[in-house]
Amino acid sequence: MYERILVRYGDLTLKGKNKRMFIERVNNLIRNKVNNDKVKYEKNHDRLYILLNGESHEDVIKGLDRVSGLSSYSLVSKTTKDMESIFEKAFEVVESELKGKVVTFKVESKRSDKNYPVKSPEISKLVAGHVLRNTDLLKVDVHKPELTLNVEVRSDATFIYCKKIKGMGGFPVGVAGKGLLMLSGGIDSPVAGFLAMKQGIQIECIHFESTPLTSIESAQKVIDLTEKMSAYAPHNVIKVHMVPFMELHQALLNYIPESYNITIMRRMMYRISEEIAKRNNCIVLLNGESVGQVASQTLQSMSVINTVVNMPVIRPLSTYDKLDIIGISRKIDCYNISIKPFEDCCTVYLPKKPATAPKLDKCELYEQKFDFKEILDKTIENTKTIIVNANNHRDITLEGFIVSEVI
Ligand code: ATP
Ligand code: MG
Repeated sequence: MYERILVRYGDLTLKGKNKRMFIERVNNLIRNKVNNDKVKYEKNHDRLYILLNGESHEDVIKGLDRVSGLSSYSLVSKTTKDMESIFEKAFEVVESELKGKVVTFKVESKRSDKNYPVKSPEISKLVAGHVLRNTDLLKVDVHKPELTLNVEVRSDATFIYCKKIKGMGGFPVGVAGKGLLMLSGGIDSPVAGFLAMKQGIQIECIHFESTPLTSIESAQKVIDLTEKMSAYAPHNVIKVHMVPFMELHQALLNYIPESYNITIMRRMMYRISEEIAKRNNCIVLLNGESVGQVASQTLQSMSVINTVVNMPVIRPLSTYDKLDIIGISRKIDCYNISIKPFEDCCTVYLPKKPATAPKLDKCELYEQKFDFKEILDKTIENTKTIIVNANNHRDITLEGFIVSEVI
């Protein structure tokens, strides 16, 4: 029935001069996510047609749902500009949407070919008349129709469709530059990563793993979550920098008063993240912090932790409600992985009374109790990078830290 998909670009239509480059990027993403040699692409000014060539539209749509920068798309049928063939095609399209019960509908027409002899309101009236004569299952309601039949008469042909499917929106991933996402095994950070990509930021991830203080499964969770996120990344690939945090973690447990343990652990994580970010051309840090969620995410904690870095820290979830975060987590298929009960370095040996309003001078004082710089440098040098690919599952085996692909 539908032989093509009409794709409308998102926010990027607003970007004037950069528009061409943006469209180029979205088109590349589309080809990459749709990943089907049989379909053909037809560029047309501010839109793109995907000619299905007999391929399943469901599979193509699955790919389109992972392309940031897309505003919406529709399954479309093309016909000539001859009124009789418009009638025929319009009925065919609307009939394919009917499920045996009466629905309300309206026809909406657009005439971008201003030389076309019939004006839009007249096209709508004529098409509606024809359709109504051919079925008893439709009733006109121009205010709140259940079904809208769209007829677009353009210079080359007429395009007819019913549904407009919402795309991801945002900007094509990569257009905004690269950021380093602090990725734990929890619910929040993968959602933060997804939102960053949706806004055009390409991500690499950093994970602090404290095996054997924490389990190997918690590191595997991180790989599995990255695999899910990579479905939205350019070429379905995301790098994860695995930081061996054990020694530093142990030192913190030995030297730092319990109530400041998490604050100082996070200051260490920020320091390492900034260095790894710089080495990998990431210009911002990203994380899943959300104001007020836990002791280390009060405004006072955040500000004391933040002072150790100069790089901007973007917190896509800072004002999000947990239920909304969970909703996105389910949508991107991460939730069932995130809720698996393995401890990571922030949850193991959790202090009974963490400071909710830590003081900067105290942090600095406690940090002088041991030579953390030496351990930091060693930790950074021993960091390993894994390439995670959405199409290629990786199981990690922790033998020290052996993975199938280390660069
Ligand atoms: P999440 O659900 O993502 O684990 P959370 O609510 O449990 O978040 P915290 O554990 O306090 O919150 O962590 C806040 C943020 O710090 C996380 O969202 C993540 O960005 C970062 N983070 C925490 N632990 C780690 C870790 N082991 N490795 C890398 N980043 C981490
Ligand atoms: Mg966590």
